[in-house]
Parts: sequence; C-alpha cells; structure tokens
Amino acid sequence: MIKPKQIEKNHLVLVVDDQEINRDALGIILEDNYEVIYAENGKIALELINEHIEDLSLVMLDLMMPVMNGFEVLEAMSASEHMKGIPVIVLTAEKSAELKALQMGAADFITKPFDMHEVILARVGRIIELSEGRQLISAAERDRLTGLYSRNFFREYANRLFTYHKELKLDALAINIEQFHSLNALNGREFGNDVLRLMGEEIRAFLAETVGIASRYDADSFYIYCIHQDDYAEVLDRLQKKVNAFSPNVNVHLRMGVEVWIDGVDPTQLFDRARAACNMARGDYQHPLKEYNDDMRKREMLNQRLLNDLRAAIAEEQFEVFYQPKYNIKHNPPKLVSAEALIRWRHPELGMVSPGSFIPLFEGNGLISLVDSYVWRKAASQVSEWVKKYNYKLPVSVNLSRADVFDLSLVNRLKKLLEDNGLSYNEIKLEVTESAYTDNANQLLEVISGLRNAGFQIEMDDFGSGYSSLNMLSSMPIDVIKIDMKFIRDIETNETDRRLVSMVIDIAKYLGVTVVAEGVETEGQLEILKTIGCDIVQGYYFSRPLPVAEFEMLIEREIGAKGEKL
Ligand code: C2E
Ligand code: CA
Ligand code: CA
Repeated sequence: MIKPKQIEKNHLVLVVDDQEINRDALGIILEDNYEVIYAENGKIALELINEHIEDLSLVMLDLMMPVMNGFEVLEAMSASEHMKGIPVIVLTAEKSAELKALQMGAADFITKPFDMHEVILARVGRIIELSEGRQLISAAERDRLTGLYSRNFFREYANRLFTYHKELKLDALAINIEQFHSLNALNGREFGNDVLRLMGEEIRAFLAETVGIASRYDADSFYIYCIHQDDYAEVLDRLQKKVNAFSPNVNVHLRMGVEVWIDGVDPTQLFDRARAACNMARGDYQHPLKEYNDDMRKREMLNQRLLNDLRAAIAEEQFEVFYQPKYNIKHNPPKLVSAEALIRWRHPELGMVSPGSFIPLFEGNGLISLVDSYVWRKAASQVSEWVKKYNYKLPVSVNLSRADVFDLSLVNRLKKLLEDNGLSYNEIKLEVTESAYTDNANQLLEVISGLRNAGFQIEMDDFGSGYSSLNMLSSMPIDVIKIDMKFIRDIETNETDRRLVSMVIDIAKYLGVTVVAEGVETEGQLEILKTIGCDIVQGYYFSRPLPVAEFEMLIEREIGAKGEKL
C-alpha cells in the first residue's frame, strides 16, 4: 500500500468542485490528514484563495464548473504574483484536458471518479511536499531568449510526463539550424538571436494548438515533446516559413529529426534518436526532415558494439597503424619525406572497420584519446624501428583530436614518448584538424602553442573545411597546412578551386608555412600542383595508406634510388 508521508493536520487544502458528491468524496479521503475547505465554483474559489493566501497549501480544482471554470482559475492564479506559488491538482474526467492544465501551471491531476484513496493521498502529500521544497511546475525555468523551457526543466518535466502519464504517448522532435555558427559569424549575433526568438515564438504557437512541451536545448537546437502529429513536414514547414519571412535575404535552413513514441522508451532515448535523425539531415537541404529509421537503428547498434569492444581491441592489439607516404614534388623524381599514421581496426567479428565509422564515434565521447595514444605509441616505435633497420629517418605525422587537447599532461606525455624511443622533435609531427581551431579556439591555441614552443611541428589538417580565414593563418601556431582534399578533387576542371589553392599556396609561402596537398589521385592534379608551387603531396596517386610491410618497400625503393646500401 502506498502510504502518504505523515503530514500534520495544519495543512489547509481547498477543494473546488460543483458536484457535491465529489466534494464529499474528497472530504472523506482528505479530512483525516488535512484541514479542508470547499468551493462550488471558480469565483468562490478565488475569493477563498485570496482570503487564505498565507496558509493555503493546495488547491484541488475541478475543470468543468458553472460561473467560472477551472481553466480560468488557473489563469487567474498564474497571473497573480501571490497565488501562483500555490500548487493546484486538477480533477478531471477528460484525458485531453490534463496536459493543457499542466501547461497552465497545474502541478498534477487526478482522474474522476476517485477510487484509489491511497493513491490520491500519496499524490496530495507529494505535491505539498514538492511545493514546500519549491520544486513546483509553476516555478518553471524558461530560456530568456525564446520563452521555452530551460534544458534541465524540460528534461525533468519530460521524465515526469513519461513516468506518471504513460497514456499520453508523446513523440520526440529535434530541430536544428544549419550552420548556425557561420550564420552568426556572417550576419551578427543579433541576427542569430532574432532567428532563435522567432523559432521560440512559432514553437509556442504550435504548442498552443496541440499538446506538448518544448525547450531550447542547446544554442540552436530545439526539443519538442508532443502528442503524435500526422504530418511533421508541416510543422517544420511552418517554422521554416516564419524564419524565411523574417530574413528573405539570408538563407536560413532548418532541419528536423523525429522519433515517434514507443512503449516503454524513455524521453532520453527518444531524444537521442530524434537528435541522431536530425544529424543525419545535416546539409541535406532537399530532405530536411528525417525520421529515425532502421538504418539509424543499425548504426546505433553498431556504435554500441564498437564502444563496448574498444578496450578489448586496444588490449588485444586489434588496431593496426597504416602509413601513407608524403612526397616532396620539388624533387625529380619526387622524394619520400614523411608519412601519416592512419589507424585501422581489424575487428575479430566485423572484419576491417574503417576509421570513418569509429573515429567520429569516439570523438563524440572522448574515448578517441585512447585510440590516439595507441597510434602515437606505435608510430613512435615504428620511426625508431626504421632508424635501426634502415638507418633511415622518416618523420611520421600523427593525428590529434580535440579531446587530446583537454589533457593537461599532453605536452609531457608526448615528450616522454620521444625520449622513450630516442627520437627528436622533428620526427613526430602533429596534425590538428582545422575545425578544432575555430571551435574552442582559446584553450586549443594555448595547448598547441605549448606543443610548438616545446619543439613539435604542427600541421593544420583539412584546411578549408572549417571557418578559419586566410588572415587568421598568420596568428596561428602552425608550421604546415594540409589543404583539404575537396579542393584538390576538381582542380583539373574547376577554375575557382585552382585559383583558391594557388592563392592559399602563395599566402602560405609568404608566411613561411609549408603546404601539403591531400587526396591527390591523378597525374593531372599533380602537374597543376607542381605548376602553382605546392611543395608536398599525399594521395592515392603515390600510394594508399599501407601496412608496415608494404610501406617498407617504399622506403627500400627510396633508399635504392639514392644509391645507398641496404
Ligand atoms: P585525414 O586525417 O584527413 O586523413 C586522410 C584520409 O584521406 C585517410 O582516410 C586517407 O586514407 C584518405 N586519403 C588519402 N589519400 C587519398 C586520396 O587520394 N583520395 C581519397 N579519396 N582519399 C585519400 P582514412 O585513413 O580513412 O582516415 C579518415 C579520417 O580518420 C582521417 O582523415 C582522420 O581524420 C581520421 N583518423 C585516421 N586515423 C586517425 C587517428 O589515429 N587518430 C585520429 N584522431 N583520427 C584518425
Ligand atoms: Ca590527418
Ligand atoms: Ca586531412
């Protein structure tokens, strides 16, 4: 049996119902534990509330009443500074009215006819307790900009709806603004704020027509938990239209992910999936609405599997480091000058797993640091191995992730790695992707500068894929830029790309920074890069990333070409 918390009888409860039989029924349930007063319509209720404003602990409120109904009472109460602190439990026979009442500030509801006395007492006790703990629904935290619930409040509210109101069957929607970061950068924060505000406005308008709650969950990400809609495209459409009407000259693209209600699946999971679906829609302007589907479910299961298997994979050395050569094309023939270490996972059951499918996954939760350390260790010992085997020094670049940079001991760890393998600073180089520079600029710049001051060479990876501009290059702690392969791909046919690459090379030269072109696949691309003054090239034209044994054939060829003895 559910027992109410023992509450002294000095708590005053107001029961409002036009039916005498209901008032009596509640009286029987409550009077052993509470002081109870009664009203038969909203008007009298408000008078009594005013009269007992100091010591009233709870209002139990019928919705359908003559003279003044329960909704009007709720409205009046939430509009009054004094009354809005008093919790209200709504009494209703109608399911559809419940959430509406909750939205209007009710703390809970009880359905008629009243049967389970213990349950009612427990609820009353809990609500009074909660209200005294000031954790009231009416104390909802809202986001200032949009008027929607704060993230924490939304999370709590959604869990509560899920736990106590299973009959509601709520769907999860996640909405995002494409490239919000650059929208802000290009049009100013005010513009960005206006867009967010309008979205908040339209979401509230939508919720006024249906049943649900919403939050601005992150900077530009909105969550809606609402009863099932037949056409979510329409919902996205009305938001998009609202934004378009405001900024006819700037293209603002919204995208939406949906996960519909599934029995027993909690809001956290539903929203994880809605968010995953929303991420799948990123950049897909033709299909900005995605429902969570089987592919995503499979992907999610694979992700879970990979996450579970990671530690064993490291312990059992399932990871293997491949090496892809970089050639200096100023020499004739081109000269092998370094290599990039790229990880591969030989999974015992799944076979070869490409880094494209596990790197972003591990980047998302910081586990990438484990992988990176593994690669650095292997690469460092490989470099010293080649010195021993061939008396040949080939510097190797390793990839650094954002998460690595948060490790305060990073500089010391890398230094130690060099010491342990008897290497000098120019033998292990560090690649940092460009977008990392712009995302958490200050911290990253500090750490990277620290590495560079220690003596490491820093290569900016994927240059052109992020938002850094050319003039930022001069102030960034870098020695090399690697031009993203998407600029190289069409360089033979696309005049703009060619000019762009040429310009980057000129500026880099001026700044004394070396340029590496990535993803060079054809002779034609190579010739153009030579002509416009590129120094170093990496790509399938010379070689794919290779396992050690095969890569050693490149070394042997190189040494042979120099006429040195093996
Ligand atoms: P990335 O650092 O930009 O590495 C270059 C990727 O381009 C590699 O893919 C390489 O195989 C591929 N590639 C090289 N030449 C060509 C070409 O001519 N054409 C085409 N189409 N592709 C080419 P891979 O090995 O699949 O790695 C993908 C990404 O995974 C890497 O991009 C890097 O971001 C990440 N990654 C790989 N290994 C590690 C690692 O040890 N740590 C971290 N943090 N990331 C890694
Ligand atoms: Ca790289
Ligand atoms: Ca790259």
